[in-house]
Amino acid sequence: MSKLRIGTAGIPASTSLRSSQAGIQRLAELGLGCMELEFVRSIQMKEPTALDVKKVAEGTDIELTVHAPYYVNLNSKEPEKVTASKERILKAARIGRVAGANSVTFHASFYHDDDHNIVYERTKKQLIEIRTILNDEGNTIDLRPETTGSPTQFGTVSEIVQLGVEIPGVYPCVDFSHLHARSNGAFNTYEEFCQVLTQIQENLGKSAIQRLHMHVSGIDYGVKGEKKHLPLQESDMAYEALLQALIDFNVGGWLICESPELENDALLLQRAYQRLLEKE
Ligand SMILES: [Zn+2]
Repeated sequence: MSKLRIGTAGIPASTSLRSSQAGIQRLAELGLGCMELEFVRSIQMKEPTALDVKKVAEGTDIELTVHAPYYVNLNSKEPEKVTASKERILKAARIGRVAGANSVTFHASFYHDDDHNIVYERTKKQLIEIRTILNDEGNTIDLRPETTGSPTQFGTVSEIVQLGVEIPGVYPCVDFSHLHARSNGAFNTYEEFCQVLTQIQENLGKSAIQRLHMHVSGIDYGVKGEKKHLPLQESDMAYEALLQALIDFNVGGWLICESPELENDALLLQRAYQRLLEKE
């Protein structure tokens, strides 16, 4: 049985002190298993803090992932924006590594009006460069482009999986709520969740399923995709069907809850997951 850890996107709301270390300790008190370091606006964490975060995470058995800044577009028309995007991913990967994080995820590109195959090739080229730099630095953190929440953003399951096929050290981050939103309501049944997992397993092997980085939240959406995140129980997200699919595929890794009800929904997910496991 692979170990699936469930946790929060950032510091739990009920943490008294707003620090990553306190957040990790709070997650351990709650009995959750992982936390995503949210560098989504900027990366303020410095090396001494990251080293301390690593110590606290190891001491409490909380595993870490990283979300790189939102301001990333590897398909920008402006070369300096592409360079800045790469720097942001690198910076997140570097400080994440110091903090002992396993994986760094990011929204790779926007399509603009470009042919999707061209966007794929451009994104791939940049990711190869980022991976090569990290490898040269001895940084083995997983690089994980994410499935995105809007049809204007690069990041279908096929695109993300194919990058993993073509670039060693690149793997998918599957945001199930984004898939649901970008398709305006699909990707929300047991069968559809199983299709996503099958696609990953068939292309990237069982190991990719046993170590998977995932996001989930309730989500409001329309024809343009994601509008905003919602508490799970105020949304139509079929999270129990998702958890059942994760159990049936023996999925391990990190399931990060991005709901506004951060740790409450992470606990809701964890309880439902345990209940479904016990039924097996
Ligand atoms: Zn994201």
